[in-house]
Amino acid sequence: MRSKKEKTPSVAPFRLRGVGKQIAKHLARLDIHSVQDLLFHLPSRYQDRTQIQAIRQLLPGHEAVVEGVVKAVSTPRQGRTKLLCELKDETGSIWLRFFHVLPFQSDILKPGARLRCYHEVRQGPKGLEMIHPEFQVIIQDKFQPVDPHLTPIYPATEGLSQYTLRKLTTNALAWMENEPSFVELLPLAVLQKLSMPTLKEALRFVHRPPRDIPVSHLVENKTLPQKRLAFEELLAHRISLLQVKHRFQAQGSLPFGRSEKLSEKFLKSLPFQLTQAQQRVIAEIRQDLNQAHPMLRLVQGDVGSGKTVIAAYAMLQAVENGYQAAMMAPTELLAEQHDRVFRRWLAPLGIKMAFLSGNVKSRARISALKSIERGEAQVILGTHALFQEAVTFSRLALVVVDEQHRFGVHQRALLRQKGIQADYYPHQLVMTATPIPRTLAMSFYADLDVSVIDELPPGRTPIMTSVMTNARREEVIARIREACEEGRQVYWVCPLIEESDVLNCQAATRTAEMLQQQLPEIKIGLIHGRLRAEEKEGAMRLFQQGETKLLVATTVIEVGVDVPNASVMVIENAERLGLSQLHQLRGRVGRGAVASHCVLLYQPPLSALAKERLTVMRETTDGFHIAQRDLELRGPGEVLGTRQTGDLAFKVADLIRDSEILPIVHEAADFIIKQHDEIIQPLMRRWLEKGEEYGKV
Ligand code: ADP
Ligand code: MG
Repeated sequence: MRSKKEKTPSVAPFRLRGVGKQIAKHLARLDIHSVQDLLFHLPSRYQDRTQIQAIRQLLPGHEAVVEGVVKAVSTPRQGRTKLLCELKDETGSIWLRFFHVLPFQSDILKPGARLRCYHEVRQGPKGLEMIHPEFQVIIQDKFQPVDPHLTPIYPATEGLSQYTLRKLTTNALAWMENEPSFVELLPLAVLQKLSMPTLKEALRFVHRPPRDIPVSHLVENKTLPQKRLAFEELLAHRISLLQVKHRFQAQGSLPFGRSEKLSEKFLKSLPFQLTQAQQRVIAEIRQDLNQAHPMLRLVQGDVGSGKTVIAAYAMLQAVENGYQAAMMAPTELLAEQHDRVFRRWLAPLGIKMAFLSGNVKSRARISALKSIERGEAQVILGTHALFQEAVTFSRLALVVVDEQHRFGVHQRALLRQKGIQADYYPHQLVMTATPIPRTLAMSFYADLDVSVIDELPPGRTPIMTSVMTNARREEVIARIREACEEGRQVYWVCPLIEESDVLNCQAATRTAEMLQQQLPEIKIGLIHGRLRAEEKEGAMRLFQQGETKLLVATTVIEVGVDVPNASVMVIENAERLGLSQLHQLRGRVGRGAVASHCVLLYQPPLSALAKERLTVMRETTDGFHIAQRDLELRGPGEVLGTRQTGDLAFKVADLIRDSEILPIVHEAADFIIKQHDEIIQPLMRRWLEKGEEYGKV
């Protein structure tokens, strides 16, 4: 991670009038570290304070500026109100209500004072009122103009008032005028074609919009200057990802021949036929592997669409050409499951495997490391432990990253670097079950080729989902009993509800004990993050073999776990989970031919958002639809799992809101790469703080 200090040189450090140490500290909390950051800190909404309204014409529910003289001030003894003023103009009067009053305010709020107030008007007990209005003292005979433009309201933080932010942005806008780093970068041809204003015009507009612009247009981000800013930022991201791709493709890779004995033999050994979609993706991969530059392909497929087989096929292509292939999974549990499945598939073909994870220690670890280094291990599975310092591959030709949405762009980049061998790059296959809408995929994964598995294996029956309050637990337990009597198996998931791992595991343990009391005849297993690898593995194996019928688990089983006979899933505290997590969890059932059920238990009262999520889950099992809703409810940063790493933190753009301009962004990116490569560097420096890191990937 780049530290705040070593900013790229074009980003001016704070040398702005009005920014002292204290203010700088507050600004840092808003992630504003330079004048440029401040200029890209856009208002979240606007107010029209350009006209003073007659008090008699005020309507409740509307925001307004009024000006009048304080007639009476009272300090009620009872109730929350500390101060009540009556403000009067020529047409009528309104009450100003305060629940707390600072000393300087009570000095001002005295009968006879002339005030200009701004706030929402409400119907109060004594008539129309404003609660805690913003107010300004008007001195007689001194002309104080109303705001000449709409008033921006900025995302703020404690210690930084709107007043301060407005003052600072005014200074910043003045500073910008003669600042070389704010020169216009976009070619005139592009601006003219799209009739877009220049960067400076756009910034002036969004910070201080003219009074004739309807506030609603601004709030909906409909104005050209707003789009102009998002456009430039999206363009910078797009170009940077394309550059990563071009650079990557310029690398050499290990040539794969065409012998397909092993991989074909493997496909024949499977107890099922590949779906059309799987066959198509395999063909795409085969083509990539025959090229002289490294493959960089993302396979998107809903939970249960059968991505593992595809990974195995690609890995066998490496093996039959005499190379090593490695696959990395995001959790121990999933890595261990892959290990089991791959041993079953590959042992009959005589393939040597190695396994590495944080749980593999001492002698087992040393022997795995040796066999990887000597090239004895052909297929290597594990967690991100695979890419730690100590691991040296002998001739790694392919890296598979499973459930990549759990890793984020940053790790993706890291892995790519780690994978570099002496004179070639390994091919890369990344797999994800987070289906994201196409335009978004094109933007976020512009550095990857994308394959989609848009078909589930045949014979699956759709999952029925019900949403129930905790009060109906008994019913759910009765259902579990029935399901187990019919020979089916059940997951009971206790989501992480505490910050502490220990507490979560205790909660799962207690739930298991409670269920055992109520279901004494049923064999219950338990799996949580604090168990040792062998214990987890053991519990998982017992469940897989049908020895245990009910598996109580924390969300460690979220990704990838595959037990086709399990057909009921109960998720406790479902209201606390996000849509994609719920979808991932639910994907653990519905893998066999019997009808499956998912019960989402919740603790009332439900927030509006939680209610919405649970409704979506009840109504659909379509991963793409769920992803779309998830995006709308949470925004792309969360959905793509990048919020924490800040990888996709846009300054002004919003992939969903601005999705309609993505096609022109893509077109302009191609044009600029072909004809105006001189602006690429400054553009990236302006918009991508981590420009250098991106460049290295
Ligand atoms: P995911 O895409 O979620 O990783 P998996 O690869 O775990 O899905 O596959 C889910 C299950 O479907 C596994 O049991 C797998 O063996 C099985 N499977 C995969 N492809 C097919 C197919 N074409 N026909 C039938 N079953 C399949
Ligand atoms: Mg999987």
